[in-house]
Amino acid sequence: MLNVDRLTKKYGDFTAVSGLSFEAHPGEILGLVGPNGAGKTTTLRCIAGILKPQEGTISIEGQRLADDPVAAKRALAYIPDTPHPFDMLTVVEHLRFTALAYRVADPESRFDALLEELELTEKRDELASGLSRGMRQKLAIACAFLRDPGVILFDEPLTGLDPRAIRTMRDSMRARADAGATVLISSHLLDLVERLCDRILVLHRGQALAVGTLDEIRATAAGSGASLEEVFFDITERHDEEANGGS
Ligand code: ATP
Repeated sequence: MLNVDRLTKKYGDFTAVSGLSFEAHPGEILGLVGPNGAGKTTTLRCIAGILKPQEGTISIEGQRLADDPVAAKRALAYIPDTPHPFDMLTVVEHLRFTALAYRVADPESRFDALLEELELTEKRDELASGLSRGMRQKLAIACAFLRDPGVILFDEPLTGLDPRAIRTMRDSMRARADAGATVLISSHLLDLVERLCDRILVLHRGQALAVGTLDEIRATAAGSGASLEEVFFDITERHDEEANGGS
C-alpha cells in the first residue's frame, strides 16, 4: 500500500510537484503518465526517499517515510530509468549482495528461477560492465524482485528492452501485483499503460489532472471508446488552454 498526501517538491523557486495526493493498493498496477517535465521522476524519487519534499507525507506499507525511513525503504524497491549496477560485480554477485544488504532468507534457492524469469541465465557469471542497457535494467529488476518488496516503483521500465523482454516484463509486473505487491509505473508508452495498468494517474505541471480507471478518466475527458492517448491529449491540452485563459 502506498499513500501520498499533499506532496510538494521544489527545486529552488521552481515547484516540480504541487500538492500531489494519491493512493496505490496491493494487487494493483498504477500507471503514472504525463508530458516531459510533468514531475513523474521527481514524484518517484520522493517516494523512494532519494529526494526530500518540502511538504506532504508519504507512507509505504503503513510506515511514514519521514518517521522511519529505513523501515519504509525496506518495504519498497525503486528501479530508476537508468540503473547503475556495480561494474566489477557479476550478475549473480549482485543478487548475493542484495540478499546480504536486505537480509533475504535463503536467497540462493531463488536465483535460478529469477535469472530464468528475467532471461539472464546465460549472463549469470558476467560482469555488469559487459551487460547491454536492457540487461542492466533486467538485473536491477531481478535484484528488486529478490527482496519481495510490498511496493515496487518503475521509472520507464521498458525503455531499451526488446519486444520479447517487454512481454516478459509485462508478465512479471502483473505476476508481482497478483501476488499482492503495489506496483507504480511511470511510462510514456501509453499503449502499454492502457493494456497493463489497472488505474492511471495523469500528471501535468506537477499536479494530478485525473486519476482512476481508463473508463473513469474517459468519462471526464475524450468520451467513451477513446484511447488513453486521446484522453491524455484531451486532458493535458484542456488544462493548458485553461491556464492560458482559454485563448
Ligand atoms: P520526463 O518525462 O521528461 O522524464 P518527468 O515527468 O519525469 O519528465 P521530472 O524529471 O520529475 O519530470 O522533472 C520535473 C520538473 O522539475 C522539470 O521541469 C525539470 O526541469 C525540473 N527538475 C528536475 N530535476 C531538477 C533538478 N535537479 N534541479 C532543478 N530542476 C529540476
